[in-house]
Amino acid sequence: MFGAIEAGGTKFVCAVGTGPDNLQSEIRFPTTTPEETLQKCIKFFREQSKRHTLISLGIACFGPIDLDPQSSTYGYITSTPKLGWQNTSIVKFFQNALEIPIAFDTDVNAAALGESQWGAGQGFDPLLYLTIGTGIGGGGIVNGAPLHGLLHPEMGHISIPHDWNADPFPGNCPFHGDCFEGLASGPAMKQRWGQPVETLPDNHPAWSLEAYYIARALANLIYVVSPRRIVLGGGVMQNLALFPLIRMEVQKALNQYVQSPAVLENIENYIVPPALGNRAGILGALALAMSIR
Ligand code: ZN
Repeated sequence: MFGAIEAGGTKFVCAVGTGPDNLQSEIRFPTTTPEETLQKCIKFFREQSKRHTLISLGIACFGPIDLDPQSSTYGYITSTPKLGWQNTSIVKFFQNALEIPIAFDTDVNAAALGESQWGAGQGFDPLLYLTIGTGIGGGGIVNGAPLHGLLHPEMGHISIPHDWNADPFPGNCPFHGDCFEGLASGPAMKQRWGQPVETLPDNHPAWSLEAYYIARALANLIYVVSPRRIVLGGGVMQNLALFPLIRMEVQKALNQYVQSPAVLENIENYIVPPALGNRAGILGALALAMSIR
């Protein structure tokens, strides 16, 4: 059996299993202080290891996190705005307590890995997975593994065209103002239109503007990464009416420059919703654990 933790800013989920058809003893609890929350995880996995041999543990973690194995703060949550969680050592804590190998990655990289293993990304490499919700984040799977580098990709913060006349909203990213996340996250939409995303009717102009921004970001990512498929998840993407709008805007933005039937003729199968739904996080963590077997 493999262990999995979906470590989120509002809730933690722990489970053991071997895949989507065998996920056992899932528990969830709210994220409180690091001490209390991490102890609950340890208690769960100690219980589980009485019944199962745990081979490894995968942790899909909210960030920012340090993924550089050479760094002295490898396996830490670093500069998060989440109170009390700054500079929290995650990997070492679990290594010491459970004495099994730990795979650690961003929540969005893990979700990308889960989708590539068992969901909408199967057979598509490179794969891009973006979550568009409270924030915007993206993970890339390249040659079967999550893309890392200096840190991890920050696809939510790329620059996209912003017509200040058409959209005077200045953006709400504390670092960049009108970056992709600053213009197109759920909270940005709420601030711009003065009402929560869930309450915006399908015919509201919010959606065509949102599709335009997402498409402009995707066009840039298509040029850079050349993904074979793009999976879009997160709260804002719960409105499935966005998908056809985004596909149309992506084709407009690319303007036939990317000469692939996937984009030109078959875009409904190129930009798709996730297949793992609300299990993407925990299954992503499980996929991480299984990746270091
Ligand atoms: Zn930004």
